[in-house]
Amino acid sequence: MRPSLPDLVIFDCDGVLVDSEVISNPLFVAHLNRAGFAITLEEANRDLIGRSMASCMALLAERFGKPLPEGFLDDLQVETFAALAERVEPVEGVIAAIDRIEAAGIATCVASSGEHAKMAVTLGRTGLIGRFEGRIFSATEVARGKPFPDLFLHAATRMGMAPAACVVVEDSEPGIRAAAAAGMRPLAYAGGTIARPEALAAAGGTLFRRMAELPALLGL
Ligand SMILES: [Mg+2]
Repeated sequence: MRPSLPDLVIFDCDGVLVDSEVISNPLFVAHLNRAGFAITLEEANRDLIGRSMASCMALLAERFGKPLPEGFLDDLQVETFAALAERVEPVEGVIAAIDRIEAAGIATCVASSGEHAKMAVTLGRTGLIGRFEGRIFSATEVARGKPFPDLFLHAATRMGMAPAACVVVEDSEPGIRAAAAAGMRPLAYAGGTIARPEALAAAGGTLFRRMAELPALLGL
């Protein structure tokens, strides 16, 4: 049976629209290691992806029993934004999927744990920013980031849609949990190189591995 069409598709940004995590996460880990926080790339991919920077900082401070050094985020941001501006690409197949969704008259927006400044870089370089103008929401706009439902509920409210009529496309476990907690249907893109399919499925996401599969999952 085909699912009934959603009114709104909410896209996560990093790992769903743009292939940014493969660039930003190794830089994050290198900066952490240099600052005396011993964490591996694998641990960072497991524990930090999909969360806001504020949430990552809180988690790291708790785990290591000390705060990040002064200026850490500024230095990291300068290097990360420069690397993203030079190298980030759209996730394979996502532009064609968006074309199809828009052609069907279904509304779209973006809801990311990242800041607006980061999305300006990644969505700007990949040419996606114009397609979501005025419909880009960040965890910086709400009290609690993913896995709490706040950001997705905020996006739905701003778009004038009921949560039950929304589908969320996510690639991280906190994101899938946030969508489920918001009463939205979570679709879990597991086609990225650092995806963790078991964790995404356990969190309640419907797994798919190619963006070409997305329209059919939406009922198109
Ligand atoms: Mg993501």
